[in-house]
Amino acid sequence: MPLADGERGNDKEESQVITNHMNEYATQKEEIIDSSSLLYELSRDLVSILDGYQVVSVALNYLAKVPDCQVAGFLVEDNANPEQPWRFTVRIYRLGWESLVPQLTQRTIDAMQTVSEHIIQLNKVSIIVDGERQPDRVLSQVNRELRSFASLPLIMRQQVIGMVSIGSGEKSIFNEGIVRLLSTITNQATIAISNCRYIEQMAAARQSERLKSEFISNISHELRTPLHSIRGFTKLMLQGKVPDPGTQKEFLTIIDNQSEHLGKLIDNLLDISRLESGRFQIQKRHMSIKNTTQDAVESFYSLASEKGIVINEDIPATLPELEVDGERLRQVMVNLLSNAIKFSNDGGSVTVKIEVKDSELMMQVTDHGIGILEEVMPHLFERFFRVKDSAGVGGAGLGLYISKQIIEAHGGRIWAESKAGEGSTFSFTLPLNQAGGDSHG
Ligand code: ADP
Repeated sequence: MPLADGERGNDKEESQVITNHMNEYATQKEEIIDSSSLLYELSRDLVSILDGYQVVSVALNYLAKVPDCQVAGFLVEDNANPEQPWRFTVRIYRLGWESLVPQLTQRTIDAMQTVSEHIIQLNKVSIIVDGERQPDRVLSQVNRELRSFASLPLIMRQQVIGMVSIGSGEKSIFNEGIVRLLSTITNQATIAISNCRYIEQMAAARQSERLKSEFISNISHELRTPLHSIRGFTKLMLQGKVPDPGTQKEFLTIIDNQSEHLGKLIDNLLDISRLESGRFQIQKRHMSIKNTTQDAVESFYSLASEKGIVINEDIPATLPELEVDGERLRQVMVNLLSNAIKFSNDGGSVTVKIEVKDSELMMQVTDHGIGILEEVMPHLFERFFRVKDSAGVGGAGLGLYISKQIIEAHGGRIWAESKAGEGSTFSFTLPLNQAGGDSHG
């Protein structure tokens, strides 16, 4: 029986609806396949990476797949760089869009501040333009505006550890699918970065255990050496074998120096025990550190001159008053100066410099001695750490660790720069008080 016109029309509509549904289903299927293959490729690429920055670099390759994404960046903590504890790695995907970098950086930092308590200052962030895709031609005359911007936090165990941002000069580039793609990349990168950190922590824990057992054998040796020397010279004198007053004085001086060395070792051990048990305290008071510095430097004049080392002082005539524990601060200065002289060659020079800039005071101790190999630099301030065979000079590897605790308890920072064979500079900062006036010490 032939169909009535109206019925034919219904059929057409129905088949159109079915076709539309099928097309939609096919598109959705493609999208699902697309996103699952992306997830597969991304996790495959990230799974074997052991270095957080390589994770960032791979994740940036995937952000390139976001349509119209012209610039993207990863902000993550950089534990190896106390001067600039945040690292922003930026990649530009289109020629001529470099001018979006400062805007993207600032907006990412702002976004980070709003989601976490981390205080980040732009000058404390190292901004690295990722080399791989950097355009070979810089079209700086193009001044584009960031018209689309999205920022997603990297959240690890309920803590914000960084931020991913993407930007474009095009308007409204984000739809639901793109946001999903961004979340996938961000989540996978967070897992990979957190794995890298876990592996680093495990390695550090193993290293710490190894250092601890080395320390026990070290410290026994360190305590025994001065003790042997004290007992040896005392015995000789008690047996009346040193009648000459000049030699007696020489021996007594050795005994005195060795007892002082023993006393310092024991003080360091007590500090470590206080630090481990949480009983380490500093007692701050409002004071000038001019006298403290002068006192610490002068206490090394005779040791330096014995080695023919000149101590240069670049210390301003006036220094602001600070809220500090003078005794503890002296301990830090003594540690840095003693290392600088210990690791300097005879006839060298050591410079002590103090500078007041912005909101902090900075002290630097520079030597031109044996220097430190680049690979051990990240471990210098660790408990029990000593460079093996550092010119056969003894030590328990506690001085720098304790110094770091003291400076950080004052709200300051301490770090080292060095080149093997050329010398080292150890620096620390102390925050200036709001109320502090100038003092002539
Ligand atoms: P210690 O308490 O045994 O003196 P520190 O913690 O002060 O140890 O220093 C740790 C290690 O760092 C030293 O064993 C030495 O190898 C290295 N070091 C510290 N300062 C210097 C320096 N100025 N030049 C070269 N090496 C240094």
